[in-house]
Amino acid sequence: MIRLPLPTFDVAEAVQVCASGITIAERAQALLDALPVIQHTETAYRELAPHGRLYEMQGSDQVTPDLDGALMGVIYKSHFARSNSPSRKLYELIKMAPEFGICPLCSQRVVATVDHYLPQKHFPALNLTPVNLIPACSDCNKRKLAMVATSAEDQTLHPYYDDLGRDRWLFVEVLPSSPPTVEFKVRAPVAWGYVLAARVTHHFGLMGLAELYAAQAASELADVSFFMEELGAAAGALGVYQQLDQQFRTRYARDRNSWKTALYEGLRDSEWFCAEGYRLIRPKVRWPE
Ligand SMILES: [Zn+2]
Repeated sequence: MIRLPLPTFDVAEAVQVCASGITIAERAQALLDALPVIQHTETAYRELAPHGRLYEMQGSDQVTPDLDGALMGVIYKSHFARSNSPSRKLYELIKMAPEFGICPLCSQRVVATVDHYLPQKHFPALNLTPVNLIPACSDCNKRKLAMVATSAEDQTLHPYYDDLGRDRWLFVEVLPSSPPTVEFKVRAPVAWGYVLAARVTHHFGLMGLAELYAAQAASELADVSFFMEELGAAAGALGVYQQLDQQFRTRYARDRNSWKTALYEGLRDSEWFCAEGYRLIRPKVRWPE
């Protein structure tokens, strides 16, 4: 997961800018009238989120008697996020926050949408609340859906609030097979404690990250297989080891827990891979010259 800085605007700004672009006067007024309730909900959110306690937030199917969940959904989709609306620039600020446009939930795919951390369906008062809006790829967004956590352990990671620290937590196990198999695993550092460890494991499973990273790793191995075979023939297992170590350290310097960091560490530490596994990546099919 990639940590993101908190959005630079609050829900009061989001509501006022959004309302300024709503031409249906009654609808704009219902939104402005609901601002105290919406701000109150934002305050509660900001108090609970840093402590991993958002699962305690109480859902509701309406914001105020004049603004139910369905109308709030329309306001988000047809006004707040609509192209050319005054509030679209706020939506884009959220969406464009991650470096290189990479989804903070999987650290791999490209941001395509904005996800409501606490889902719209159950928390309409948080539909426009910036700290509840998270840039996400389509897959992560779909996998999360309208899931509502009922305990601390069931909560997915929150890029604005959850800090995984600097300890290593993503590791690879290399299984001797042809081609080599790599399995990604979460190994929680002691400093995390039980709840954070459970949440990371839950997030990893829900987002399908073991499968996603295994597919990326298989492609990466295929990319480097020709070079590894040449290197192994010239410099033996030690040469392969040293190359993998250099690749690991390069990735580690940037991100200690990227799938590439974990991959190269796992390959480097596999005696089998350094001695012979690297020769089994490519099927030994020879195309006619
Ligand atoms: Zn994603």
